[in-house]
Amino acid sequence: MTFKPAIKSPSTQSARALWFVFHRGRLLLKQSNNGRRIPCTEDLALIKVDPTRNQYLGALNGRACYAVELPDVNQVADGYDLIGLRETFGRLDEELIWIAGRANQLVDWSRNHRFCGQCGHPTEDKPEERAKNCPACGLVNYPRLSPAIIVAVVKGDRLLLASNKRFKSGYYSVLAGFVEPGETLEECVAREIKEEVGINVKNVRYFGSQPWPFPNSLMVGFLADYAGGEINADQSEIVAADWFTADDLPSIPPRITIARHLIDWFVGKSSAIKTPRHPE
Ligand SMILES: [Zn+2]
Repeated sequence: MTFKPAIKSPSTQSARALWFVFHRGRLLLKQSNNGRRIPCTEDLALIKVDPTRNQYLGALNGRACYAVELPDVNQVADGYDLIGLRETFGRLDEELIWIAGRANQLVDWSRNHRFCGQCGHPTEDKPEERAKNCPACGLVNYPRLSPAIIVAVVKGDRLLLASNKRFKSGYYSVLAGFVEPGETLEECVAREIKEEVGINVKNVRYFGSQPWPFPNSLMVGFLADYAGGEINADQSEIVAADWFTADDLPSIPPRITIARHLIDWFVGKSSAIKTPRHPE
C-alpha cells in the first residue's frame, strides 16, 4: 500500500474515500465479515459526523483519506466500535494504523486550536498549508509535535532494558524520554539515561525514527555504548532496569514499534557475532 500525504482535498468526496473517525483518541471501525474496517463515504449518513469539519490526509492507493471527529460517543451506530489506537496494533494493516495515528493527531490539533491562544478570536484553516491562522492578530499555529528520544544502550553482549511504572509486570523496553527546549537529541539521550538509570553513555548515533501518536510524539531512535556507572533505577518513572543478553530477553514491545526495531537490531547483531556452535 502506498500512502501519499496531501493537504488540499479533491473537489468532490468520492464514495470510496476512507474516513478516520475519532472520539477522544479512539478510532471508529465498522464490523465486517473479516474483522473490522475503516468506514467509507457511504457509511457517513449512519455515523452522523459533520463531514465539512474534516482534515484531508492524502490518498491511499488513490483513495482519499479524511480525518474527522465524532463529537458524541452516544452516536456510535450499530455495527461500529470505538477502538483505542494501540488496540489496532496487529488488527489493522500497518499502513492504516499509521494513517490513523496521523488522523488522530490532526483531529486533536484541530479541536484544540479552534480559538487563538493569543487573543481568543476563532481561527481559520490556512488553505495552502497545515496551519490555523488567526484573522484578528495573525498568529499561526501548526500541528504540535513532541520529539522524544528512544535508545538502545549496549554493554558488550548485553542490552539495557527497563521497566516503566506504567508497564505491566515483567514487561521491559529500551529507554525513552522527551526532548527539552534548548537541548540537542544527543544531549537528551545522555541526560535521560543518566536520570532514569544512572548510566553514562558514549558513541550516540542515529538509528531511525517513527511517528508515535500517543498523543503527538516523534520517536527519534539512537544506539549508544555503555561508558560507565552502575544501574540505579530512579523509581519515579523506572521501577527496574537490567542488562539482558539476546538469548534471555524478558517480555518486550510488539513488532510494529521502533522500540522493538532497536531490540531486534541488537538481537541480529548478537546472532551475527555469536561463535557458530559445532555439532556434538
Ligand atoms: Zn489572535
